[in-house]
Amino acid sequence: MGCGLLGEEGLVLITIGDIAAECPQCGGTDFETLSDGPLRLATELRCTGCGEHVKYLLLLDHIGEEAMRRANRALGELKKQPKK
Ligand SMILES: [Zn+2]
Repeated sequence: MGCGLLGEEGLVLITIGDIAAECPQCGGTDFETLSDGPLRLATELRCTGCGEHVKYLLLLDHIGEEAMRRANRALGELKKQPKK
């Protein structure tokens, strides 16, 4: 687990654990940075799939929501299982 930035040549894959940030437009997971320097929350990334500009903050938000959905789903599955 943990935050990770993988990539080269300005290409970044934004993941937390095994959840990758997706482009809100096309669902792509590959982004490239528009400028050099460290990523900040307000930094805009460009989706390599459709060219959409997305703020880093938005992508992190998206990951958080996805993580929450998964957690809730896992909880639901647990509750469905009959107790022995
Ligand atoms: Zn896209």
